Amino acid sequence: MRSLWSDDEAKQYTGDLGLRVYSSRLLGRDRSLVLHGGGNTSVKIRETNLFGEEEDILYIKGSGWDLETIEPQGFSPVRLAHVRRLAALPKLSDPEMVNQLATHMLRASAPAPSIETILHGCLPYKYVDHTHADSVVAITDTRDGQARIREIYGDLCVVIPYLMPGFDLAQFCAREFANQRREGTIGMVLLNHGIFSFGDSGRESYERMIDLVSRAEDYLRKHRAWDVPLAAVKPGAIDPFAQAQLRRGISDAAGGPMILKTCADERGLGFARHPQVALISQQGPATPDHVIRTKRTPLLGADVGGYVEAYRRYFGDQAAGAQQTMLDPAPRVVLDPAFGLAVAGRTAKDAGIVEDIYAHTIEVILRAEALGGFRALPPPDIFAIEYWDLEQAKLKQSGKPPVYAGEVAFVTGAASGIGKAAVASFLARGAAVVGIDLDPGVESLHARADFLGLRCDVTDASALLQALCNAVLRFGGIDMLVLNAGIFAASRRIADLGAEEWRRVMNVNLDANQSLMRDCHPYLKLAPRGGRVVVIGSKNVPAPGPGAAAYSASKAALNQLARVAALEWGGDGIRVNTLHPNAVFDTGLWTDEVLAQRAKHYGMTVAEYRTHNVLRTEVTSHDVAELAAEMCGPLFAKTTGAQLPVDGGNERVI
Ligand SMILES: [Zn+2]
Repeated sequence: MRSLWSDDEAKQYTGDLGLRVYSSRLLGRDRSLVLHGGGNTSVKIRETNLFGEEEDILYIKGSGWDLETIEPQGFSPVRLAHVRRLAALPKLSDPEMVNQLATHMLRASAPAPSIETILHGCLPYKYVDHTHADSVVAITDTRDGQARIREIYGDLCVVIPYLMPGFDLAQFCAREFANQRREGTIGMVLLNHGIFSFGDSGRESYERMIDLVSRAEDYLRKHRAWDVPLAAVKPGAIDPFAQAQLRRGISDAAGGPMILKTCADERGLGFARHPQVALISQQGPATPDHVIRTKRTPLLGADVGGYVEAYRRYFGDQAAGAQQTMLDPAPRVVLDPAFGLAVAGRTAKDAGIVEDIYAHTIEVILRAEALGGFRALPPPDIFAIEYWDLEQAKLKQSGKPPVYAGEVAFVTGAASGIGKAAVASFLARGAAVVGIDLDPGVESLHARADFLGLRCDVTDASALLQALCNAVLRFGGIDMLVLNAGIFAASRRIADLGAEEWRRVMNVNLDANQSLMRDCHPYLKLAPRGGRVVVIGSKNVPAPGPGAAAYSASKAALNQLARVAALEWGGDGIRVNTLHPNAVFDTGLWTDEVLAQRAKHYGMTVAEYRTHNVLRTEVTSHDVAELAAEMCGPLFAKTTGAQLPVDGGNERVI
């Protein structure tokens, strides 16, 4: 492991806290050191307070911040003298510890200080760095882990047996540190948990971490436990419908819709096919705080019911009458020889976090196995972390989940206009969204975990099937379908309308939508909250115009298709509703030039033309998209087969 420290980069950060921010980010950049909110860092700074008195302040990473992206305000400033007085108490409950730390900070708006604050305060060094380094964890997660760690580090590190984080661990470490510390001690290993380093400067502490972790890596290399090979695997075709069924089972167990991502990577598949997978994957997480993301064990295969049963037994055994409420018993990690690794989460982001954590867990397990046998902490220790309020608080910061959290929307014609706006409207309501479009721009529409943009021609049946397959493998299903893709051919009277143009319009506006509805039906039927379809129709359905025969006829046929779907699919709990927009000018079709021409044609100014409706209001893509998104929600829960104009009021329609 190389130090990433750069004097040039470091110059951009000022003061002790600035360098604390910099070296924390360096730790965060290396995923083999810390993952998603794991690890923490601190610096002790002497400051002058409002009264002119000098005071030592412990700046410690705040809860909810990631080391990789932490800012100065991500550190909570706690009065060090108070932290040390707390450490000397005979005992301190968790709620009182949280309260004492929160009421002895310098900034009212600071985040809650890390649950390892007292431990940081007890270590007599200016800078303290703490990670859950994969290599250190792999070595300590073995039967003779302690002996191996002592062999690697000698006097360099104090060694602490596993204790749950919090007050007791902090006190134990303070005592043991004083006992075990030698001249050259630069770190401390917490078995089955992680490692600390410390120093007088940010650079010293950081580079000591790199040095200590490098020694663990070298040890693994020396013992042929670094790059652990897996038998070569040939990935087979994955059945998307089976994944959607699995996702439905997991959602039912979780009590609400969940995202299920099929990872389809070689290591995951190789691990799922490992001859010992049933043994080595079922022992527990690599480091205890992963449990709140991954649960204690993965599901093997597709028997969600069996997993739920086992989880209930685990809860019953461990809670043993204590006043605790069982968390949802749904798995977060699935291993199956057919597809490898799949991960579940309440959102696509959460599922992504589980994926990252489990990818590292696989390596930790394989390395520990290569050293003689992976040995995770026993269930009581894992349960204590899983049901510890201070750990669960990390997941509860975001408040009430958005309306479509865990659900998946599929939008056609997503690169521009109403489709693009629909993507934004569904994302804003918490859905994961798949957008398809002929325009490759759709692929880069949003760079976020909950969006997948696919270039796809809707008239190409096999490309469409592939897009559906990709969507289901990425997010686990299709719950909401927005049929928006369509073309509007140049104005032409029927007498001049050629067969080719007629067919082209029918192909895109009608045939493609029928194929898509047919192919999506099995997924919509599996939607945990019932499937929903929104068809973007047109004012031309109730009020056609001359020169638009192909367009009007295709939209009218699509309208009829939607009505029949509402009749046929009602029994499957699928709602199908249609919007009829008119004169939506902020789309790719309407350039300023075309708009000016049309306005002139009707003898109006552009402004008059834009608002030429009963309400004298302009209708935008956003207006249509918002209504499309709402039609999938609870307001329309009892509506199907409906047609709703969104046109500012049109005299011919009214
Ligand atoms: Zn830790």
